[in-house]
Amino acid sequence: MKCCYCQQSVLSGEPITVSGVGPAHKSCFEKSLIEQRVFRDLNLRSLPVEELRELFDMVKMELNVRDAQHKQVDVWDEVTLFG
Ligand SMILES: [Zn+2]
Repeated sequence: MKCCYCQQSVLSGEPITVSGVGPAHKSCFEKSLIEQRVFRDLNLRSLPVEELRELFDMVKMELNVRDAQHKQVDVWDEVTLFG
């Protein structure tokens, strides 16, 4: 069996079966996901620019919230240390 991405024998690496594609090397499959900008089931290349910006803003907001939560925990730790 040949890898669907590099056309080499799948036995030369870690073989997997990609649904809808066929046999492939695990490393080739992962590389193809990055090249296609696929995250989970979301293909970023298929999104219109407006939706991509929306997603980008949402990711930034989520990261900001998490950073803030992280800082609050740090401050709390310092308060308990010095209290
Ligand atoms: Zn391959």
